[in-house]
Amino acid sequence: MLEHTVFIGLGSNINSPKQQVIQALQEIHTSKEIFVQACSHLYESVPMGPQDQPNFINAVCKAATSLSPSGLLDKLQEIESLHNRVRTAEKWGPRTLDLDVLMYNQEKISNERLILPHYGMHEREFVLIPMFEIQPDLIMPDGRALAAWISQCELSGLKRHNDSVDYKSIAA
Ligand code: AMP
Repeated sequence: MLEHTVFIGLGSNINSPKQQVIQALQEIHTSKEIFVQACSHLYESVPMGPQDQPNFINAVCKAATSLSPSGLLDKLQEIESLHNRVRTAEKWGPRTLDLDVLMYNQEKISNERLILPHYGMHEREFVLIPMFEIQPDLIMPDGRALAAWISQCELSGLKRHNDSVDYKSIAA
């Protein structure tokens, strides 16, 4: 039973970032333990940290899953590896694919592998705005509205790509 509701953040800024994100959405949706219910448009954001790297393409999806929080992280890291993501020591460096568990039901978790809600999302416009597109009335695990989180986030402007995201196609 796909009884848990989760939000997943996706980002890429090298090797055809748009295709990386769309293909990852298809791979998530094709997995038998995860069913993507809604997906934002793609958004373009300027990189956090080092500026001498390409802009990022970001998206957020809402999904139902039977996986535990750590099982979901395992699955997402498996998909990252498929995209040749090599983890380096450089924080905020370029990446073919970054997948984050943003929220898992309303759970608050903090262990050595997983922090939920995701530790950086309150300051990430490229996460909060796509989430708002999917579910504008969302209440966050701290009991506050997503809109209130957005009102406290520094917004510098995202560029929305208006073409539709076909995550239901079978991944190549
Ligand atoms: P990053 O380099 O941004 O992909 O960070 C990945 C590391 O963050 C992984 O080793 C995870 O164990 C850890 N992590 C902690 N909380 C989360 C989360 N909510 N979603 C994804 N990774 C997380």
